[in-house]
Amino acid sequence: MTPPTATLVDEDLDVAESPVAGSTITRSRDVTEVKVVHGGDRKKGGEQIALFLFIAIPFVALVAAIPFAWGWGLGWRDVVIATVMYAIAGHGIGTGYHRYFTHGSFKARRPLRIALAVAGSLAIEGPVVRWVADHRKHHKFSDKEGDPHSPWRYGDTVPALMKGLWYAHVGWLFDVEQTPQAQYAPDLLRDRDIAKVSRLFPYLTALSLLLPPIVGGLWSMSWQGALTAFFWGTLVRVGLLHHVTWSINSICHAMGERPFKSRDKSGNVWWLAVLSMGESWHNLHHADPTCARHGVLPGQVDSNARLISWLEKLGWAYDVRWPTPERIAAKRAD
Ligand SMILES: [Zn+2]
Ligand SMILES: [Zn+2]
Repeated sequence: MTPPTATLVDEDLDVAESPVAGSTITRSRDVTEVKVVHGGDRKKGGEQIALFLFIAIPFVALVAAIPFAWGWGLGWRDVVIATVMYAIAGHGIGTGYHRYFTHGSFKARRPLRIALAVAGSLAIEGPVVRWVADHRKHHKFSDKEGDPHSPWRYGDTVPALMKGLWYAHVGWLFDVEQTPQAQYAPDLLRDRDIAKVSRLFPYLTALSLLLPPIVGGLWSMSWQGALTAFFWGTLVRVGLLHHVTWSINSICHAMGERPFKSRDKSGNVWWLAVLSMGESWHNLHHADPTCARHGVLPGQVDSNARLISWLEKLGWAYDVRWPTPERIAAKRAD
């Protein structure tokens, strides 16, 4: 097809005298003028940066608003509810969906297996089988053609990386093409309990949304308590965990240290370690995907690994693939 702008401008010039085409001319002018105001058919690098800032700054502002909100719609009760829900859903993703279901870095007794699928579902990042299929495909093609969410898919210039980061962060979620689950997660589809948890995802989503206001309301015995718990314990908690998880796909494949050998651009990003519960030691993870601990170097916080060690002590998790010093040394990039 002919680019619309060029056609409209030509029409504008050619038929300016014709009364019959009058209405067309008026419309054409409007469209042309609007396009000029918005800077043409292609977004420039500066516009992309502005777009990013408009998306990022309100989010940062929300976090910065916390000290101001204290005592007016935010108190310890909301913090406790939000933190507990964040920890349950976040470890459900890190320990459950990711390290256990995707990579099999340990084995679990059946009640724990089901509990991990349920806990991960509370993060509202999709049903367990779909999440696992996408993530296995990500490892198979990491940062190459076929990776569902590589920030490098448009190239490695600054504008291409900006576009790619956006795609890796959230854009890929809107892709209508889905990872074939039968091909990437046949083990989970065969498991009737897990397939059922996956099917119940809409109900678990409702539970995740409603649990904070119910607890907040009963705890305070007030509607106000239910409302503030819904704001912080549901909306802010879900939003924050989403962005942290997505940052592993975007930020941790674009920056960070690479002390280990991996065939992609995965990096260790220290400032996401606490919020991501150890998932941001992503370079080690791609170097040794089945390892139960991602933060293998001294001082690397990894609360998912801590949780797995507790579950192992309880006897609920077993055959855990803990890293050995020899294995870590062999994976070093040097
Ligand atoms: Zn990755
Ligand atoms: Zn992984």
